[in-house]
Amino acid sequence: MFSSPLPRNILIVGGGPVGLSTAKLLSQKISQSLTTPTKEPGKIFLVEARLGRSIRPGYLAFNIFDFVSAKLNLDKNLEHSEAQHIKDLERALYEVIKVSPHITIYDATLLKIDLATGVALIKTTKTGESIALPPCYIIIDCSGQNRAVINQLIQEKKDIAELSTIAINPVKHHLIAQVRMDNRDQEKLTKILQKRSHLNKPADSYEHFEAKRILALRNEFGWEHLDTPTFYSVPGNVAKNKAMFYLEAPNALLPERYEAWIKSAMQAIAGKEYPFTLMPSESKKYISKKKQRLGAFFMEPQETRFSSHKIGELLFFALGDALMENDYRLGVGVKNGIMQMVTFVESCNIVEGALIGFNLPTYEKNIAQLLTEQKSHIINVYQTRRLHLEKAKTYVKDFIIKQLLSAKNFTARAQIWAEAASLPEEDLQELKYTFALKLEKNATKTFNEIFDKKTNQINPQAFECLLKLNESLNTLIEAITLLPHQFISKKNPLIETLQEWILNVINCARDLHKNKKHDEAVKHYKLALKFLNKSKDNVDLMPIYTHLYKDIMAVYSNLITIYTAHKDISQALLYSDNALKEVKQDPVSPEEQKSELNQLIAKIMYKQITLLLTQSSNDQKTSPQSSSTMFPPAGLDLKKTLDDVNTYLARLQKYSKSLKLLKQPISLPLEGIELSQYETLQKKVKELSKETTQSASAQLGGEGLS
Ligand SMILES: Cc1cc2nc3c(=O)[nH]c(=O)nc-3n(C[C@H](O)[C@H](O)[C@H](O)COP(=O)(O)OP(=O)(O)OC[C@H]3O[C@@H](n4cnc5c(N)ncnc54)[C@H](O)[C@@H]3O)c2cc1C
Repeated sequence: MFSSPLPRNILIVGGGPVGLSTAKLLSQKISQSLTTPTKEPGKIFLVEARLGRSIRPGYLAFNIFDFVSAKLNLDKNLEHSEAQHIKDLERALYEVIKVSPHITIYDATLLKIDLATGVALIKTTKTGESIALPPCYIIIDCSGQNRAVINQLIQEKKDIAELSTIAINPVKHHLIAQVRMDNRDQEKLTKILQKRSHLNKPADSYEHFEAKRILALRNEFGWEHLDTPTFYSVPGNVAKNKAMFYLEAPNALLPERYEAWIKSAMQAIAGKEYPFTLMPSESKKYISKKKQRLGAFFMEPQETRFSSHKIGELLFFALGDALMENDYRLGVGVKNGIMQMVTFVESCNIVEGALIGFNLPTYEKNIAQLLTEQKSHIINVYQTRRLHLEKAKTYVKDFIIKQLLSAKNFTARAQIWAEAASLPEEDLQELKYTFALKLEKNATKTFNEIFDKKTNQINPQAFECLLKLNESLNTLIEAITLLPHQFISKKNPLIETLQEWILNVINCARDLHKNKKHDEAVKHYKLALKFLNKSKDNVDLMPIYTHLYKDIMAVYSNLITIYTAHKDISQALLYSDNALKEVKQDPVSPEEQKSELNQLIAKIMYKQITLLLTQSSNDQKTSPQSSSTMFPPAGLDLKKTLDDVNTYLARLQKYSKSLKLLKQPISLPLEGIELSQYETLQKKVKELSKETTQSASAQLGGEGLS
């Protein structure tokens, strides 16, 4: 019971559906309580900042007008247009309370409440004048998300109320657009969108999943998820071809891209774009600026941890969205608010027009139950959405794997990886891992088709042997490169397999050479060389490939030997030149292998000098003007030869340290390769010009296969 005997005035801040309904039901209860008209009843003051100018665009569920009418015990159901906008409900309710007794309505904004006296200071919308209302002992915050009263309480008495998020919405940014759209298109679109409702349907309703379009939404608009956005099309006034779109949007979407986003999202879900035009704004303020009925809002419902509070004589309440917000997609905001309002009014003890008491325990119990239901609905919906987003991830990943598997070549796969690059890093890594393992499987399958397990050799007779070797090696390298670094334990064995396969190719080439199948041998060596060089240039493979440089030089050496044996001097020179260009000190191999490598390098250098001398000699022999008495002999490009020799001497100097290690089988003196060495070689070239080729090349020595 209240201590004061005065009639208890009630202040309702906010004239949305809940504020208006509260005023109506309280007014009814006051009237019903009056037995003698002489008593002065309590007053209800309703303050609404947008009185009669409601432009809220939302559409209400079909039966909500009847539901509200029933809860308000109206003789005649509230009238509404075919479209059933929230604004229609607000207007209809306003018409009802306008003529209801005990209610004074102010077209004004609440500025502040004096928490000691219950006097509200309001500012009228039309004149801007400030008015102080009579003291009110019951103050109900019905101002929706604005929470005009609650926020003042939080500011002035911090421990009273607290705002908190009900549940984290996985997709917070949403768009709302009013559009003109052909009725038939609307019907088709609505059907498709209903099938793809992400909030209620079980997660396996993804038959028409279009992963490629989702990737495009990510790449073009920065869409953060791997599911299509939720998209609702609510038919407006059917006769006028109107509709309302509600849809999720990327967080960082700029207003100038809203329309493009709607089109692309529609495309992604429905497979095509149904034509629509955005409707111009209803507000006079915007008509001249051509503003459209298209807006964005953040959806993360908040609750006020507060159902009632007493400060001195004053009792504070919050109802509707001010107490607990809703997700618009549930379409229950108005209904929930009305239920809370009924619970509230039922707890008011009104006698002879005066509020003499309030049944707080019953109210607290009933409102807590309503709020728990309301809250769990939202929590469930966001959990379902999160589940969908997770599930959708696997659909997108499966799709990408399928695409990669059917891609014809590395370039096509690279294109798919580029499209997938916007995936969240973790998912991308996982995808790479999965696909790398598939690649490894494919590579092994292809390699095994040509690898003879009995002889432990590649069968060069196998159909398209070289092609298959090429393919399996390429695929394995792709798999190694793709494997994310954190899977190093998987990566290293693959690199070892690669090494083994390349050595198998080299062994195969050696056998072919032994069997005098020179052309085939050359092809296999070249293939081995290609992959050794690929390995050398690939940072993923380099560090653990210990024999890499030695293997490269060995293959070069053998190729030069084969070409020399076949008197193809220019090819032999080309390969020796390439080999020497590629020479680097092996950063990783052990000393023993470095020494072997140095021997190989030296061997190649001497082979090259021999080749150069042979070439000079041949040139001289074939030259029409050749003459043994002339020096320099006509036709011998002595300058070029000397330049070449110079170059190699420079290289010799560079490698002189390693060359010092060499003892056999090179016969020339190796230490102090400076001027004296240069002169020796120069002399040899001169001698060559005097047809002493045989003795010079004999002195330089020739090597067999390494
Ligand atoms: C896009 C969208 C679509 C929706 N669709 C649906 C749907 O289909 N079905 C459904 O049931 N619900 C829907 N809702 C939710 C529904 O709109 C709300 O739950 C409902 O309006 C809450 O009513 P209320 O009276 O508590 O608050 P509100 O409707 O927000 O009303 C609050 C009122 O307080 C006034 N006010 C604020 N501050 C002050 C102040 N300082 N002084 C004076 N007045 C003030 C405002 O002008 C406003 O009129 C939707 C919401 C959105 C955003």
